[in-house]
Amino acid sequence: MINHIAENLKKIKQELPDNVTLVAVSKTKPEKDILTAYQAGQRIFGENKVQEMVAKEQNLPKDIQWHMIGHLQRNKIKYIAQFVSLIHGVDSFKKLVEINKQAKKHQRVINCLLQVKIAKEDTKFGLSFKETEAILQSENLKDLDNIKISGLMGMASFTNDNEQIKNEFNSLYKLFTSLKDKYNTKNIDLKILSMGMSGDYPIAIKSGSNMVRIGSAIFGKRDYSHNNLL
Ligand SMILES: *Cc1c(COP(=O)(O)O)cnc(C)c1O
Repeated sequence: MINHIAENLKKIKQELPDNVTLVAVSKTKPEKDILTAYQAGQRIFGENKVQEMVAKEQNLPKDIQWHMIGHLQRNKIKYIAQFVSLIHGVDSFKKLVEINKQAKKHQRVINCLLQVKIAKEDTKFGLSFKETEAILQSENLKDLDNIKISGLMGMASFTNDNEQIKNEFNSLYKLFTSLKDKYNTKNIDLKILSMGMSGDYPIAIKSGSNMVRIGSAIFGKRDYSHNNLL
């Protein structure tokens, strides 16, 4: 089978504006595919399962920055606290407390994005706009010296209706810009707006995204037949 990973990566990178960071989503993909992308210059990779990320981190080059993009269970944070570069899917204050606790053990500050629910689907995780602001306002947040809230993350509905996708991304951009100047403390610095995947990243960028998480458009379709990773 011909490997198109390097070509796909190059093409996507050419399309991306300079201010947009690419997270190559390598979940379910073998280490050799990650190495191919690495050799083509990619350094940021996204995974959504703790066990899989830990195994890959152990075997792959140490200058890779690992982003946790999945729904992270609180009891598993300890396994990635030593090395994770950014956690995209933080959806509760309790999780921030646990991330802080585990980061402290390793004398690190872990960057986090609050995941905001913008999709109409019930299956998608995330905070409401109100809950997002409540976390930023919280007095207790000030005590968490080992985390930094560095932005927001969102996923649009899975639909062919581009107008709806655009509206959802625009709503998150609006929230992001309104909170950005309002909350700027020692552990809040809202710089990153993570939105856009293979199917919708051009729309996300037009709506103000500065970090896209792209998997299948780089690595090809995922094969779930041998596991239940989603
Ligand atoms: C899998 C995943 C992606 C990448 O999806 P593609 O459609 O393959 O680009 C992006 N973000 C999250 C949160 C994901 O779980």
